Amino acid sequence: MTALMVGKIDTKVKLKGLSLEEMERYAAALGEPSYRGRQLFQWIYGRGCRHFEEMTDLPAALRATLAEQASITSLTCFGRQVSRDGTRKYLFGCPDGRQIESVLIPDEGRLTACLSTQVGCALACAFCLTGKMGFVRHLQVGEIVDQVLALREDLAPGERIGNLVLMGMGEPLHNYEATVKALAILVHPLGLAYPPRRVMLSTVGLVPEIVRLGASGLDVNLAVSLHAATDELRDRLVPINRRYPLKELMAALRAYPLPPRRRITFEYVLMEGVNDRPEDARELARLLPGLRCKVNLLPLNEASAIPFQRPARQRVEAFQQILKSAGVLATIRESRGWDISAACGMLTIEDQKQDQKRLDSTGPLPYDVFRGVEQSGSSLGS
Ligand code: SF4
Repeated sequence: MTALMVGKIDTKVKLKGLSLEEMERYAAALGEPSYRGRQLFQWIYGRGCRHFEEMTDLPAALRATLAEQASITSLTCFGRQVSRDGTRKYLFGCPDGRQIESVLIPDEGRLTACLSTQVGCALACAFCLTGKMGFVRHLQVGEIVDQVLALREDLAPGERIGNLVLMGMGEPLHNYEATVKALAILVHPLGLAYPPRRVMLSTVGLVPEIVRLGASGLDVNLAVSLHAATDELRDRLVPINRRYPLKELMAALRAYPLPPRRRITFEYVLMEGVNDRPEDARELARLLPGLRCKVNLLPLNEASAIPFQRPARQRVEAFQQILKSAGVLATIRESRGWDISAACGMLTIEDQKQDQKRLDSTGPLPYDVFRGVEQSGSSLGS
């Protein structure tokens, strides 16, 4: 018997990940009016429905056809960890067995969801544990969107996800096509309906894709992980700078079509003695005039695999003061979820190996289990 005969090939159309237009075309291909595609789009994204039989405004015959010919794939939740500060980190399994992490961060009465766009990352920033994993693969559209749908299933009564940030594992613009398509679903009024001003994409500076994003009309917020204000230093901390040096990056950002009253956010992870000196702050201030922007200063989240130290608070404040004196809006951001390795630059599946072994012994946990967990007030994680 050949391998082909042994293996079962899934030929069903995977609906999660399709755009509205693609769902309308799919409905038409089934001989249905295009509004059936719109209904499917609303059921799958707007309501997070995973079973055709629950789509009660579709005719029974269509639901039967869909069950036969299409599927709604979902991430599997292997568990979560809860930080002392309330940050929740989730380990999700993709249909091919790869794993990713997503984070829910409580923030002034609402939750911010931090989403991944790749398994691992190719860009190897010197202070980032995800970068140490290397690149495994891009996430598909449905896998990016499904992180929000899965996180929504774990919300307690009264909780809601108010902001989305693409700052988890991976460089979103390296996975440009899937990221932009997922964003369109996340902000679509019939999809997850997040206002674009509540969505932020963070990049280390892939210049051609920044230009494409600006032309896409998506109007989401843009954050740029800068971390150094000279090419000499940035080449070492953010290797993609060798391909897109600061002059090119800043030119693309100056030309970026920012909506009114919006600013570009610059993320700057401070590492003691590396990029936190007064001259580094002055270089940074010199880079920014003419840009509507703000700078988030993030003292490094130390980890044993990272060869840098977190600076003392005094140094961080002195750095901020130099920026402020130069007229730059600069905020010090405290890390969230450090104790569960959920903070900025700390997402890595390597860290999860112990948890994974334990969870493997009980098998994957269905999303539904979260409801019981919330009621009992315990946590799936450590
Ligand atoms: S900081 Fe972002 S782009 Fe750099 S290695 Fe980490 S995940 Fe990749």
